[in-house]
Amino acid sequence: MHPFSHTRARTVEDAVCAIAQGGPGARFMAGGTTLYDLMKLNIETPNRVVDITGLEELDRIDTSGRSELVFGALARMSDVAEHPQIVAEYPALSESLWRAASQQLRNMATLGGNLLQRTRCAYFRGGEPFACNKRDLGSGCAAQQGIDRGHALLGGSDSCIAVYPGDLAVALVAFDAMIDIQGPDGQRTIAVEELHREPGKTPNIETTLMPGELILRIRVPKTAIGRASTYHKIRDRESYAFALASAAVALDMDGDTVRTARIAIGGLATRPWRARAAEQVLENRAFTPQTAREAGDAALLGARPGHHNAFRVELGARTVADALMIAKQRA
Ligand SMILES: Cc1cc2nc3c(=O)[nH]c(=O)nc-3n(C[C@H](O)[C@H](O)[C@H](O)COP(=O)(O)OP(=O)(O)OC[C@H]3O[C@@H](n4cnc5c(N)ncnc54)[C@H](O)[C@@H]3O)c2cc1C
Repeated sequence: MHPFSHTRARTVEDAVCAIAQGGPGARFMAGGTTLYDLMKLNIETPNRVVDITGLEELDRIDTSGRSELVFGALARMSDVAEHPQIVAEYPALSESLWRAASQQLRNMATLGGNLLQRTRCAYFRGGEPFACNKRDLGSGCAAQQGIDRGHALLGGSDSCIAVYPGDLAVALVAFDAMIDIQGPDGQRTIAVEELHREPGKTPNIETTLMPGELILRIRVPKTAIGRASTYHKIRDRESYAFALASAAVALDMDGDTVRTARIAIGGLATRPWRARAAEQVLENRAFTPQTAREAGDAALLGARPGHHNAFRVELGARTVADALMIAKQRA
């Protein structure tokens, strides 16, 4: 047991100040479903936990604006998944949430925490017997010579092939969502697509957040393309499992011709992966099962299979193609 202090923040300023005072070992705690899990495994050993669950200004869901949906970082996964307007107008967002984790977890977990969940790589979570550059930079990557069935085909490096496991971020990337962030030096905004880093030589640095920065809210531009969207998730069992392959897609059609396509894939890469080459395959072309499959192949271009995961190149391409067929039915 590593001793740590527990502080309850009453305002955003309080939270940012308390985390700065705690230094690099301090962590925000929202729903706690990832943080406490990793603390029990001794992967996260914070000296200070700053509980942000009392920041009521961060738990709002506002769909009333003309140009964007706004989700506070503390909005619960279940509340956004079940929101009637999200279900009807942005099914990909709703599905990415209700196909994640379990109802109990979704009732507890927040959107901000969901974006910042860490990889499920067994060598990362397994702790010290296993080399892991993400945990201990320079120690190596046990996954490269180990069981890599669930590891990344896209965005990996010699240092790390751990998959980014979350679902919501994939849908947000497809919808060009942004996040507002509060740090010690003020606020800034970045695209969700810029939040997660590829591992390169420093897989221990997972996001572009600066130390002590707090996610305040997620903003999703309103778009009519949302209605013809889906989040299609393929996994080892029907529920309560992470993606082997997933796709968030949306279509804007002119008759049978695709005007615009949005495609992002999950479970296959080291970060949420926008598949722009796949979008271009479809745009200004007639939509058919064949062109959907071509887009699927384009989404997996550059995939680098390891020892046990080559089957997920085909699975990924089929997942994208199937997702597009579902979205087309909603267009
Ligand atoms: C058994 C199990 C199965 C799961 N299956 C899935 C799945 O299929 N798909 C999926 O997407 N997820 C899945 N998850 C992950 C789950 O969705 C996350 O644990 C949850 O969303 C994290 O949210 P939280 O509020 O509990 O975060 P916390 O555990 O409180 O925080 C997670 C991390 O984010 C940081 N943090 C939290 N909020 C903020 C903020 N506002 N600003 C800055 N930093 C912050 C914390 O410091 C911590 O590092 C699963 C989890 C479990 C335990």
